[in-house]
Amino acid sequence: MHDIAIIGGGPVGLSVAVAAKLAGLDSLVLEASPEAVSRDPRVFALSYGSHLILKRWGVWEHLTDAQPIRVVHVSQRGRFGHTLLTAEELGIDALGYVVSYADIMHALRARIAVLGVDVISGARVATIQTEPEAAVVHFEQALAQRVLGARVVAQADGGANLFRETRSTERDYKQHALVAEVACERAASDHAYERFTGQGPIALLPLGGSHALIWTVPAGDAEGLLALEVGEFELALMQAYGERMGKMRLRGPRASFRLVLRYAHRIASDRHVLIGNAAQTLHPGAGQGFNIGLRDAFELSQSLADCAASGGDLLQALRRYRAARRFDRAGGTLFTDVLVRGFSNDDPVLAWGRSLGLFLLDASGAPKRFLMRRMIFGNPG
Ligand SMILES: Cc1cc2nc3c(=O)[nH]c(=O)nc-3n(C[C@H](O)[C@H](O)[C@H](O)COP(=O)(O)OP(=O)(O)OC[C@H]3O[C@@H](n4cnc5c(N)ncnc54)[C@H](O)[C@@H]3O)c2cc1C
Repeated sequence: MHDIAIIGGGPVGLSVAVAAKLAGLDSLVLEASPEAVSRDPRVFALSYGSHLILKRWGVWEHLTDAQPIRVVHVSQRGRFGHTLLTAEELGIDALGYVVSYADIMHALRARIAVLGVDVISGARVATIQTEPEAAVVHFEQALAQRVLGARVVAQADGGANLFRETRSTERDYKQHALVAEVACERAASDHAYERFTGQGPIALLPLGGSHALIWTVPAGDAEGLLALEVGEFELALMQAYGERMGKMRLRGPRASFRLVLRYAHRIASDRHVLIGNAAQTLHPGAGQGFNIGLRDAFELSQSLADCAASGGDLLQALRRYRAARRFDRAGGTLFTDVLVRGFSNDDPVLAWGRSLGLFLLDASGAPKRFLMRRMIFGNPG
C-alpha cells in the first residue's frame, strides 16, 4: 500500500509528489489527462518564497524560462497615485519569477523522473472511500476499472471536486480572465504591472521580450473579445488599460478562464486531504493561487514525514496540517477577494480613497515591506 495517493498531476499534485518522495514517503500520482505535454496557456508569477521551495526540492534547475520580477508597479486607470514594490527594498534579487504553466510542469516532471515517482496518466478517479486502515481509490484507465489503496489520499484535482461532498464558500465573480502574450511599447522587461480598472485588474508579467497579459473582463464580454480581429483586440485592450503602456501588440493566441472563488471549509478529514485549487480556487488578480498550493504541498509532506518518523498515526499528521494551513489559506483568500472586489468599481469616492491609499503605501516604509513579505512568504499566522 502507498503512503500517499495523489489525485491530479497538475502543478500542485506533482509538487506534493516531489516533496513526499524527498521526505521518504512512497507516493503515486493518478492524472486524468493522457498527454505528457501541457498545453495550458497560463503563465504564473511565482513568489520569491515559492522559488526558494522549488530550489530546495531540486525543481528550480529544471526550469528553462524563469523571468525575474524586480519591480511591481500598481496603479489605477485614470487616477492619481501608484505604488512601486521593489526587490531592492527587501534586499533580495527578485520579488518573484514568471514561468509558464508548461515550463513548471516540464520541470516537475523532470524532477519526478529523477526521483522515480510513479505517475499513471490517463487515470480518471471516480470515487474515494475512506476506511479505518486505508483510503480506497477507484479509477478508470484505458476503459478498465481499477482500485488501489493508500494510507492517505491527497485530492489535487484543481477544484473539480467530483467525488467528495465538501462544504465550501463560493462566489462567481461573473468575470473571465483573458490571457495572451503582448508586446508593450513602454514596459520594462523586469517590471510586472498591476492596473485596476472599473471592470477588474489587468496584469502584465514580464515574459522574454514581451509581457503575459491577464485581463479581467465581465463574463459577457469574453467571447466577443476573443473573436475580435487582432487590431480590434489591441485597440480594445489599449482603451481598457489607458495610455501608460503606449502601443500594445498581440503576439500569439488568446484564451479565457472563468473566475470563481471556492474555499473549502474542511481540508482534511479521515484519510483524505484537499490541496491546491481543490482546497482554494482564487481570482488570479493577486497571483496567489499556485503560490499557496505550493505551500500546501510543502506543509503536507512535512507533516506526514514528521509523523512517519516518530511512528505516529497519519491522522494526527492531517490534523496538524489542517491547523498549520489555516491562517495562510484564509489570509491569502481574503486578501485576494478584498483586493479584486474593492478595486473593481468606478465609484468616485472609493476610487479617490484607493488613490490616496496607493500614494500613502508608496511613501510608507515598514507597512509596505510588511505587505511585500506577506505576498512573498504567505501568512504564517
Ligand atoms: C488566468 C490565470 C492566471 C493565474 N496566474 C497565477 C499566478 O500568476 N500565480 C499563481 O500563484 N497562481 C496563478 N493562477 C492560479 C493557478 O493556475 C492555480 O492555483 C494552479 O494551477 C492550481 O494547480 P492545481 O494542481 O491545484 O490544479 P490544476 O492546475 O487545475 O490541475 C489539476 C489536475 O488534476 C487533474 N484531474 C482533474 N480531475 C481528475 C480526476 N478525477 N482524476 C485524475 N486527475 C484529475 C487535471 O487533469 C489536472 O491535471 C492563475 C489562474 C488563472 C486562471
